[in-house]
Amino acid sequence: LQPNKIDHWLDSYAARAETLTVSEVRALFAVVSRPEVVSLAGGMPYVAALPRDLLSDAYESMMRTRGDLAIQYAGGQGDLKLRDQIRELMALEGIQSSVEDLVITTGSQHGLDMISGLFLDEGDVVLAEGPSYVGAIGIFRHYEAHIEHVHTDHDGMSPDALEESIAKMKKQGKKIKFLYLVPNFANPSGVTLSAERRPRILEICKREHILVLEDNPYGLLYFDKPVPDALRAMDDNVIYMGSFSKILAPGFRVGYVLAPPAIREKLVLAQESALLCPSSFTQFMISEYLSHADWQKQIDTFRGVYRERKDAALSAVREFMPGVETTTPDGGFYLWLTLPEGVDSKAMLPLAVEELVAYTPGTAFFGDGTGHRNLRICYSYPTPENIRIGIQRLSNVVNKQTEMLVAR
Ligand code: PMP
Repeated sequence: LQPNKIDHWLDSYAARAETLTVSEVRALFAVVSRPEVVSLAGGMPYVAALPRDLLSDAYESMMRTRGDLAIQYAGGQGDLKLRDQIRELMALEGIQSSVEDLVITTGSQHGLDMISGLFLDEGDVVLAEGPSYVGAIGIFRHYEAHIEHVHTDHDGMSPDALEESIAKMKKQGKKIKFLYLVPNFANPSGVTLSAERRPRILEICKREHILVLEDNPYGLLYFDKPVPDALRAMDDNVIYMGSFSKILAPGFRVGYVLAPPAIREKLVLAQESALLCPSSFTQFMISEYLSHADWQKQIDTFRGVYRERKDAALSAVREFMPGVETTTPDGGFYLWLTLPEGVDSKAMLPLAVEELVAYTPGTAFFGDGTGHRNLRICYSYPTPENIRIGIQRLSNVVNKQTEMLVAR
């Protein structure tokens, strides 16, 4: 510890502060940002594909029309005009909604945090896909919830496994608070919940009185065909979360939550308590962008970029690592690999970084310490050429590990 980092307040922190830990993976990310390392680790959108003049136009128009309001405090629910535009965006996934039931948040991460704060007491259960989004796991841990992973395959979460997990939790006398799902091109698996499974999952949750939390930042980033209708399109009791981070840019920190009226009211109060109001400045920027730019064309551009990178990643995995299983996403940012038996992705990471490639070990995506045989590749950011180079480097490390196992 550096002398100025000595903590004089160790006995003053709240117990929940202990849940805020830096993972070993995070520690390696400093190394990963070196230019010679191909990083397949962080889930960064390729914002260079967004023409900057679209944003400067939005800025100028905003300053001309609503400049004073853009730099002022505002309501806790978010801008009415933007909420109306978000309604149109959600209609693309079959969702009929009212502006009244939408709350704009500071990224969907903040929505997830507020919802968790509203519902989770220590020991409560959150059901989630296995694997599940690392940022959600961090929040659920912070609220001291128990994360119960439900078996997930190439068609998303298995309804039969969901029934089993519910029965298991009930038998243990645990209180299930909600089911958290990323149904489209999930982070980290890249998998999409099939159209057949969606109504079954909803029926089970309805019968068991379990709230469903649908997190959908990637749904519009499909490669060929649109995703099945959102869960929220089939059931008004679902809480739906969306974000501009992947279809525009994450720096704006604008996301949204569509919630049943009683929950929505509490979310607005939670938001006012935590932030007073979300940033009008970035909300108005996005509203101007949606009003004047060809945003559908821009999403098409992103789709093209990510499809090309997915193809580069998949073909490199197949060519260089034939013994490694991979998911084959229809959209989004991620491949989920299953390594040969006995190879440990977490132990292997420092060796990979020595070979100048980085990824995220599977253990990051489970709340129960499993996932050692898995790893996530994020193909959204590096160029196709670098993705290929990175995966070839990774294959050298995996092959060496496999040979060592065989020699033992
Ligand atoms: N949910 C999922 C599944 C994500 O992958 C991310 C970002 N990586 C988020 C939520 C948070 O997104 P943001 O806060 O930028 O809207």
